[in-house]
Amino acid sequence: MKGIIVHGGSGKWPQEKWEAAKNGVLHAARRGYEVLEKSGDPVEACTKAVMALEDNPIFNAGTGSVLTLDGRVEMDASIMKGSTLEAGAVAGVENIKNPILLARKVMEETDHVLLAGEGAMKFARAMGFEFYDPVTEDRRKKWLELKKKFDKGEAKLPWHRMQELVKRHPELLSGTVGCVVIRDGEIVAGTSTGGVFFKLFGRVGDTPLIGAGTYATEFGGASATGIGEGIIRVVMSKSACDFMRIGVSAPKAAEAVIDIVNSTVKLDAGIITIDHTGNIGFAHNTPTMPVSYIKEGMERVYISPEE
Ligand code: ASP
Repeated sequence: MKGIIVHGGSGKWPQEKWEAAKNGVLHAARRGYEVLEKSGDPVEACTKAVMALEDNPIFNAGTGSVLTLDGRVEMDASIMKGSTLEAGAVAGVENIKNPILLARKVMEETDHVLLAGEGAMKFARAMGFEFYDPVTEDRRKKWLELKKKFDKGEAKLPWHRMQELVKRHPELLSGTVGCVVIRDGEIVAGTSTGGVFFKLFGRVGDTPLIGAGTYATEFGGASATGIGEGIIRVVMSKSACDFMRIGVSAPKAAEAVIDIVNSTVKLDAGIITIDHTGNIGFAHNTPTMPVSYIKEGMERVYISPEE
């Protein structure tokens, strides 16, 4: 049995970018599924799908990541293999092209699970990751606009009022990327992000935290998106996997954790899931979340409907 689901971040996509976001998730799902069909390796499939999303500047991960308060990019990513609970993650990495690849290196080449900041960068260079500037013109322009307001005292401190900020500027949140794949019972999940726009330097969200942004067991896998400060507190991806462990299907597990978010931390969130029987699910409490999935035997690839 083979299946893959990818997301391009919960939030509210501006109309003019929605079509590109949909094409982006479609391309990434196809890219990952191709690997499942050719080599069959689910870790490689998840990596390739997330890389396709990181390389697409429309999404807030890798190239096109959002900028911090001081105008830099600090990226987070993680990957996890369900059968063995092996996991790798990086937090606050700068100037590399594909953080998901570095997270995978942590999983496969070290005895650790999470490397952060300078140490993670030292490891990246040792692993042969070259210098790469992921800042796009569009993101720099948005940052400059907000910085001007901020300097005049017209922008409220976003990191204290994230939910309000996102309500006023819904386009600022959408764009984190994630993927869950299954191949013959082996489930792998991965997530990558630039974090939240205008975040305080050093801020780490849910994405690199195993259990919050990404989790996988032999019963299910999940990748989350939304305001990390809420996702961390409900340990969202692990919670979804716990539901799948006791027999809840992937779609119901996704809905259940969004219900938990809505009744507790009440912040924006979305999630994609696959359970061990191959059911695929997703849910979000935001207006949109571009999603695409392919499952063996499906006639057509699923792609989010029009907004
Ligand atoms: N979850 C990410 C973070 O808080 C952001 C997102 O999903 O858009 O860093």
